Amino acid sequence: MRALVVDEFGVLPQVRDVPDPACPPDGVVVRVAATGVCRSDWHAWQGHDDDVRLPHVPGHELAGTVVEVGPDVRGWRTGDVVTVPFVMACGACATCRTGDQQVCPHQTQPGFTQWGSFAELVALDHADTNLVRVPDGLSPVAAAALGCRFATAYRAVTVHAAVRTGHEVAVLGCGGVGLSAVMVAAAAGAHVVAVDPSPAARAAARDAGAHVVLDPG
Ligand SMILES: [Zn+2]
Ligand SMILES: [Zn+2]
Repeated sequence: MRALVVDEFGVLPQVRDVPDPACPPDGVVVRVAATGVCRSDWHAWQGHDDDVRLPHVPGHELAGTVVEVGPDVRGWRTGDVVTVPFVMACGACATCRTGDQQVCPHQTQPGFTQWGSFAELVALDHADTNLVRVPDGLSPVAAAALGCRFATAYRAVTVHAAVRTGHEVAVLGCGGVGLSAVMVAAAAGAHVVAVDPSPAARAAARDAGAHVVLDPG
């Protein structure tokens, strides 16, 4: 397959042919239709992430079509269009069983612990726990943008901040994670104040459910 390969931290990566990924027994191989570019990819490229081994293929925000299914997978078949929350939780440990898959100590991450989605194909572990079906009518580009930002915002809002009905929540900065935090907090019943210097970001925050939008200037 073709992939974007980092051979040396901080040096321009190269697109070249590399071996196709092997399908994990409890996972799938996905043909990538779209992949996001995230600040975390920059950190991986710069060598800031101890999980990354060279040569490396980045990319953890993806959507695509299942082309191979491991023998232990029950819920997925070839042809399914899927995305992932980027953290591939094991689904079986005590942390996962209490609903904290995002901090599963046995998690893997495409684009960090293993090769990611800046490639034609990507292998994804623990498919039955982590794959999310992309509904008809949602483009792969839109779907690929959802996992990392919503998984991050969801845990921040619902676990760390423990937001409940009637709480006041201020979201400072309405990019991908911020807009997701607005949606999650509004869905949790909070009164949401969204702050961003960009008129377009404030309009998006209003659409995402913010009750008040403010220009910090
Ligand atoms: Zn990301
Ligand atoms: Zn786990």
